[in-house]
Amino acid sequence: MWGHIMSDEKKPVRKKLKAASETSRFMADYYHELDAASKKGEPKIAWCTSVGPAEILRALGFLVYFPETHAAMLGATRMATELIPEANAMGYSPDICSYLTADIGAFLRGVTPLSKVYQGIETIPRPDVLVFNTNQCRDVQDWFSWFGKKFDAPVIGIYTHRNIGKITEAHVASITKQMQDLIEPLEKISGRRFSLDTLKRVIALSRECSELWRQVLETATARPSPLTFFDGTTLMGPAVVGRGTQRAVDVYKILLAELNERIKSKEGAIEDECFRLYWEGMPVWGRLRAHSELFSRLKANVLASTYCNSWIFSALDENDPFNSMAKAYTELFIVRSDDEKEIYIKKMIKLFAIDGVIYHDAKTCPNNTNCRYGMPQRLEQQTGVPSLIINADLNDLRLISDEQTKTNVEAFIEQLEESQT
Ligand code: SF4
Repeated sequence: MWGHIMSDEKKPVRKKLKAASETSRFMADYYHELDAASKKGEPKIAWCTSVGPAEILRALGFLVYFPETHAAMLGATRMATELIPEANAMGYSPDICSYLTADIGAFLRGVTPLSKVYQGIETIPRPDVLVFNTNQCRDVQDWFSWFGKKFDAPVIGIYTHRNIGKITEAHVASITKQMQDLIEPLEKISGRRFSLDTLKRVIALSRECSELWRQVLETATARPSPLTFFDGTTLMGPAVVGRGTQRAVDVYKILLAELNERIKSKEGAIEDECFRLYWEGMPVWGRLRAHSELFSRLKANVLASTYCNSWIFSALDENDPFNSMAKAYTELFIVRSDDEKEIYIKKMIKLFAIDGVIYHDAKTCPNNTNCRYGMPQRLEQQTGVPSLIINADLNDLRLISDEQTKTNVEAFIEQLEESQT
């Protein structure tokens, strides 16, 4: 059977979802709207971390720009690697977040992938304020502070507890207070009065978007799965940058309908799905296509991930706006203790009927890397599900060995196959 798989070197078919064009159009309109606002000076623009308090910003009328999404584009377009040294020369170590170093490097060099993808856009949008939440890492604070100085714009933020076991009322109360304290300075910058009713409406939309995104990802519980993790990394754009808008909700309704159709007709995202894998950690943005083809050629579908799940905010509740936002942005996987993370991954292994787990050890993001303190071994022991560690990076392609990845993945699938026979 292994010989059968290995001899099958024909180019794998990448089945494109029709709804992918909806998400692409969403992203194009999103960036054009930001660009127009940046040129005109209104509406005001807030930069926000990917799991920052976007709902508060929208409720105050800001257009919201997410530098991490831009940094991921730098990775996916393979521009990042040659830009990172620009930031290194400014004193930002090659060992820290390669989103940060690539994004600062791009600015210093005066380039952006936006101008390649979207006609008429020449630069990133100019911020009126930058708002971070350290729930994911400290790097975002440094990153935003650098741009705050460059653009002479205020930088404000929320400091979240890390390594949290059970979430207590004290955790939630402290974040709620910090979120409420953002309102006054943001009112001054936006020139608008804060309206609780508007915030409730935005939270309701954000929750709906999150719910639909969860349903989209959970279609991968079907066998064969109609979705891959690699599809998910681009389809998730509206959940990241558009949560709190009606349009994001509309896009995910279309996507969900198409995935449900695929399930009905038993159409898998890859041909002949034999192995079901889980991806733990960041994507390797510059190798999405290569990895997707590598796995599908081996009849392995990487179909679920912690990463794509990170934009599911089930705690959001418009009837308890601040506390529910505080809870939603604190109960994230990345903020939690190893014990909680292990409970979560075990749940995912069961939910998606996973045969193997791939851990990405991302050299420049220890925050999204969970294989350095024995977790894979502990989980293997408890679940019997084998795992493989891939040494790579999210953006810096100098830290990647394609040959080694290929050899290790092939050996891992062979091991899975042997255990199944
Ligand atoms: S979580 Fe990792 S990749 Fe994301 S901003 Fe922080 S250090 Fe960078």
